[in-house]
Amino acid sequence: MPMNRIVWHHSAGTYTPSDLDRQHYHRLIDGDGRLHDGLHAIADNAPGRSMAPGSYAAHTRELNTGSIGLAICAMAGADWGDPASWTHPVRPAQVSALIAETARLCGRYGIVATRRTILSHAEVEPTLGVWQRGKWDFDYSLTGGSTARDPVVVGDELRARVIEAVDYAPAAQDYPTRETIRQGSVGHFVRDAQAALGVTIDGMFGPKTRRAVVEFQARHELLPDGVVGPMTWAALL
Ligand SMILES: [Zn+2]
Repeated sequence: MPMNRIVWHHSAGTYTPSDLDRQHYHRLIDGDGRLHDGLHAIADNAPGRSMAPGSYAAHTRELNTGSIGLAICAMAGADWGDPASWTHPVRPAQVSALIAETARLCGRYGIVATRRTILSHAEVEPTLGVWQRGKWDFDYSLTGGSTARDPVVVGDELRARVIEAVDYAPAAQDYPTRETIRQGSVGHFVRDAQAALGVTIDGMFGPKTRRAVVEFQARHELLPDGVVGPMTWAALL
């Protein structure tokens, strides 16, 4: 059962999943970071399934087919313009649970983390071009870092954590077992990467190889950090 992407949401409810929340998302994360199943199976949103109203988890306008919906239960009645009024802000334990479940699902469904395959609801419009009626989950910092309110900046921070989590998850075995290489690395893994990148094959990961890796990552919508880890290996080979 192929699934194409994971879309992250906040429920705009309290810290406890409601029946309505459970209709709309496949997984819900309560205020203590515990995971709850929604009413619909992930398979109900698989490509090729009938999308009759009520027969699947409707979480993202015009983009439910092939999409797994994960929701953090939070942000009840939150006014976009007034963060001071947010009575149910997202908690760090909820973010950690979101990252862990996303990493697990990446392994289970063979989803490689890119901006187009793992994204927040607020990123759907800027990244995939599908209008979402002003949805803003998440254009605010969930990690205490940026206050830019740019959903892609927030998404990149979260995706970096997912990629790190996938590295250590058992699911990483689905990817070729090659060691992570970076500038300064030497040896046959570097030669393999250079061959795939089409640069001079000398087995030494220098600035030119790094530049080629960053360009490759940018082209494939991977985090352009110049490090060849499991995700970049999977895309390269
Ligand atoms: Zn949403």
